[in-house]
Amino acid sequence: MWSSIDLTAAEPRDQPAPRYAGPLRDSFGRRINYLRVSLTDACNLRCVYCMPEDMHFRPRSELMSDEELLALVRVGASLGVNKIRLTGGEPTIRPNMVELVRAIAGTPGITDLAMTTNGILLDRLAIPLAEAGLQRVNISMDTLDAAKFKSITRWGNVDDVWRGIRAAEAAGLQPIKLNSVVVRHFNDGIDMIEMARLTLENDWDVRFIEMMPFGEITDFQQTNVVTFQEMRKTIESAFGTLEEASYDFHDPSRPFRIQGALGTLGFISSVTEPFCQGCGRVRLTADGKLRLCLLRDDEVDLLTPLREGATFAELRALMAEGAYHKPWGHGLAQGVVAHNRAMNQIGG
Ligand code: SAM
Repeated sequence: MWSSIDLTAAEPRDQPAPRYAGPLRDSFGRRINYLRVSLTDACNLRCVYCMPEDMHFRPRSELMSDEELLALVRVGASLGVNKIRLTGGEPTIRPNMVELVRAIAGTPGITDLAMTTNGILLDRLAIPLAEAGLQRVNISMDTLDAAKFKSITRWGNVDDVWRGIRAAEAAGLQPIKLNSVVVRHFNDGIDMIEMARLTLENDWDVRFIEMMPFGEITDFQQTNVVTFQEMRKTIESAFGTLEEASYDFHDPSRPFRIQGALGTLGFISSVTEPFCQGCGRVRLTADGKLRLCLLRDDEVDLLTPLREGATFAELRALMAEGAYHKPWGHGLAQGVVAHNRAMNQIGG
């Protein structure tokens, strides 16, 4: 089931450890210009593939304050990070969200600012967020079926997401991308087909994600993965052979199109066909850790030094050194699973 990662391209470069002058690079020569920032580990849903039902969220004091978060974004920007995605938990439930977006969008060097959200609060936030400088949203939606949506999210209402999608479109937060984590026996059949059908008449990108294992619920996640090849077969059984669309090496999603469709379909095959060679991402967790690979526990604590008075230059050195040691890829094929956090505590 787990695919090995091709290590042939992964010879660490023989160069002195981190240089802080130019853009961030890791020891394999990959440029790191993309920071995913988690605004909170808390969420207004409890998706079964993301966290256990009785998840406890961190107290506010353990999370980065607005000032701390902005300071670390400035550190990243000074090292060549130009692309930021806000995530969580659910980023839209963070107090002061619109002002945070405005400040991040105004940070010198940041040219691309997007957010991943469940969409529930976009009905009222899409316009203020767009006005504050947010450019795009990815909205999570695993099925169009109201009863199944409720059971996957444990209590969500799919109509709220629809209102959020419409609000995002109206606010110009485009292109709209919809993310669907495919879980065996939940949404791996007709639900995928109906999600894919949306692209016939909407210029959206509907992306199907292989479920990844994290934290305490890895048994469930590993037992119920649906592979990219299975997903493709299901969709082709309904719509015929998919056309491959043009591909950006850095994008984890492999794009396809149903013949004649306005929008595209994407498959994010992190588990069975990983895309680590094109990965230029690191993550900043809501509690201020630089996470080097989504699927590995390696992290560098930035918040503690910041609270202890580290200077800007010291924080730059910590971030650059951390990024330099970004692992080449995940270790699922070797049985290495990240256990220290659930997905909501990392930020997808
Ligand atoms: N609350 C927001 C949302 O729902 O989009 C942002 C945070 S959520 C953790 C980010 C993305 O991770 C979502 O698209 C979600 O579906 C995805 N995700 C969560 N758990 C996952 C898992 N075990 N495997 C793959 N993707 C997962």
